[in-house]
Amino acid sequence: MYDILIIGAGPAGSNLARLLSSDNSNHYKVGLVDKRRLDQPVDPHRRKACGGLLSPDAQKMLAKLNLNIPSDILENPQIFKVRTIDFDNSLERYYQRYYYNLDREKFDRYLFSLIPDHIDKHVGDVVSSIHVKDDHWEVHLNQGKTILRAQFLVAADGANSLVRRTVLSEYAKPEKYISIQKWYPIASTTPYYTGIFDSTITDYYSWTIQKGNQLILGTALPLNGPHADTPKERLQKFELLREKTANYLGVSLETPFTTEGAFIERSTSVRQLRFASRLNLSSGGKLSMALLGEAAGATSPTSAEGFSYALDTSLKLYESLKQGLEFAELRYDLSCDHIRRNIFLKNLKSPAMYSKNIRNLVMKSGIGSLKDLSFEPTFE
Ligand SMILES: Cc1cc2nc3c(=O)[nH]c(=O)nc-3n(C[C@H](O)[C@H](O)[C@H](O)COP(=O)(O)OP(=O)(O)OC[C@H]3O[C@@H](n4cnc5c(N)ncnc54)[C@H](O)[C@@H]3O)c2cc1C
Repeated sequence: MYDILIIGAGPAGSNLARLLSSDNSNHYKVGLVDKRRLDQPVDPHRRKACGGLLSPDAQKMLAKLNLNIPSDILENPQIFKVRTIDFDNSLERYYQRYYYNLDREKFDRYLFSLIPDHIDKHVGDVVSSIHVKDDHWEVHLNQGKTILRAQFLVAADGANSLVRRTVLSEYAKPEKYISIQKWYPIASTTPYYTGIFDSTITDYYSWTIQKGNQLILGTALPLNGPHADTPKERLQKFELLREKTANYLGVSLETPFTTEGAFIERSTSVRQLRFASRLNLSSGGKLSMALLGEAAGATSPTSAEGFSYALDTSLKLYESLKQGLEFAELRYDLSCDHIRRNIFLKNLKSPAMYSKNIRNLVMKSGIGSLKDLSFEPTFE
């Protein structure tokens, strides 16, 4: 029986496992499960689709955690501005940005490599179901071939979290999007990444990011609500985006090396965030769990940035668990108030990016943009 079982070894789960491994006062028995073979070379079919941009907030978290990043995790080129293209209003602007361009898979594997051997790692194992059994959690791997038991469950299994869907299905959920990314060969170096706004494609946004001699073209398409498309329409929308972007940027986006997909969750209200739960058992006892990073719904609703939240929630949960298992989930839930405020404020700011008319005014005003540096906007 584990004291703490963590499902998911993305940035949130791996960082929590690493932090718990250093806790010498509680001597927790900790297990970590991930369907990816993070101990082996990259499996292209189990790679997380991501932009791999490390934001200033995520850099701050790494500083707090006393972590640095080996240079072989960085990708060429490092980029210092975003080219914002608004197809709705025929506008574009450049804004300075302070991101690091990373190889996402290497970043995950680096965080995973920091977890010492005394933490049990079940890698290449898919969590197929989660049950409450008497006074503990029972987690079935690979359709029940292996069963793990735990006192305290941590859901760090990302967007579309199985734990959240199973245990907390009655609560409000973030808006769900599917992102499609295609990697195209590119001969030149683009000195920017792009954020593309086009309401004929999505009510969220699309992007290009260069990784070495490849250019990622990606978009996030809604899966629920009035704008949701059929799978066929999604492919048509990606094709439209590809055509428009290639023409606009003057680059060839013809035969992709790879196509990837992943869910993105967007908390448009703080009600959709869920950091912890405490179940009442028929025996009168309680059973606790906590949710980290994207499983909690903690990503930026405006940019989909999520590393900072994944690292922040794992640190907050570690600090709560350090004081003992009893009420750890309640302490953790309270300690996440700053994330609720942060996401609330980001949603307040959202219309400046996602309402066509307000974005038109903001971009036309040039506030914060690099208009002084003799760029030639393509639309004007
Ligand atoms: C297309 C795209 C681009 C993005 N770009 C950026 C970016 O540039 N910068 C940024 O900061 N954020 C970005 N994000 C968001 C970022 O990827 C997430 O917020 C971040 O990965 C969350 O970390 P996490 O540890 O909570 O979850 P994840 O990184 O999703 O990790 C979840 C882990 O759980 C495992 N898992 C899931 N289900 C199971 C199961 N049933 N059994 C076993 N294991 C399981 C997965 O294999 C995975 O390792 C992007 C997201 C997408 C989809």
